[in-house]
Amino acid sequence: MSRQVYINGKLIPAEQATVSVFDHGLLYGDGVFEGLRSYAGKVFRLEQHVRRLYESAQAICLDIPLSQAEMYQAIDETVAANGIDDGYIRALVTRGAGTLGLDPNRCSNPQVIIIADTIALYPDELYEKGLEIVTASVIRNHPAALSPRIKSLNYLNNILAKLEGLQAGCIEALMLNHKGEVAECTGDNIFLVRDGALLTPPLDAGILGGITREAVIELARSVDIEVLKVALTKHDVYVADECFLTGTAAEVIPVVKVDQRTIGTGKPGPVTLDLKERFHEMARA
Ligand code: PMP
Repeated sequence: MSRQVYINGKLIPAEQATVSVFDHGLLYGDGVFEGLRSYAGKVFRLEQHVRRLYESAQAICLDIPLSQAEMYQAIDETVAANGIDDGYIRALVTRGAGTLGLDPNRCSNPQVIIIADTIALYPDELYEKGLEIVTASVIRNHPAALSPRIKSLNYLNNILAKLEGLQAGCIEALMLNHKGEVAECTGDNIFLVRDGALLTPPLDAGILGGITREAVIELARSVDIEVLKVALTKHDVYVADECFLTGTAAEVIPVVKVDQRTIGTGKPGPVTLDLKERFHEMARA
């Protein structure tokens, strides 16, 4: 069966799913998106993802021509039509076709696109042994230039940092903010464990408000682990007992080396492994 892609209210075969070359999503990265996960055919935290999508759209004055409830339905239908059980879903809204100029008011039709695919996971080995990451020299977008809380179609900031990571042989890279504080990784949020407490940068460090991040904070608090959203430096990372990343695709993944420095014992730590397991169960409950 060919993959069915949702475009503007219709499910059509993937090879026929196209957008205009005048779409400002293509010309300028003018649009917003979400990456979601389904487990056994059910989308994890669908409402939170859709809320973030609409907040991103609101921040760029983009009217999504569907209600949030209609969006839930469109996403569920796309997952069902593709027979996806454990999968990854990309929902995006572009500004639509306009002129070659910047003016978003000349774009008439926002394009609502939903793609349901299988999930390409990090190799199991990385979850067991932990990741090695490096700090990128490219800083995260200054929040006053382009807020990292907007999940926009322009991911060049993250792609440039990812390239630096890949050039250093790492599949993720740590990004600092304009103040030199730890922000997040290119597609994941970061957590440290220090003396039994969980530390993670606050939203005003200039990060995406990750949905996995929130779920992990809830899980930690439910077992009385203290969670502090505080400004962190690279030094805090280097001296942490444990480090891990969170994201929709990655779930919870341990980090054991940062900038060639061993974190903690150099093996995934007990708090990380416990939260990784708890998240795994929560997602599949
Ligand atoms: N930060 C960035 C820059 C991301 O792209 C993502 C993935 N969407 C995350 C963090 C993790 O967010 P979430 O847990 O909502 O997937």
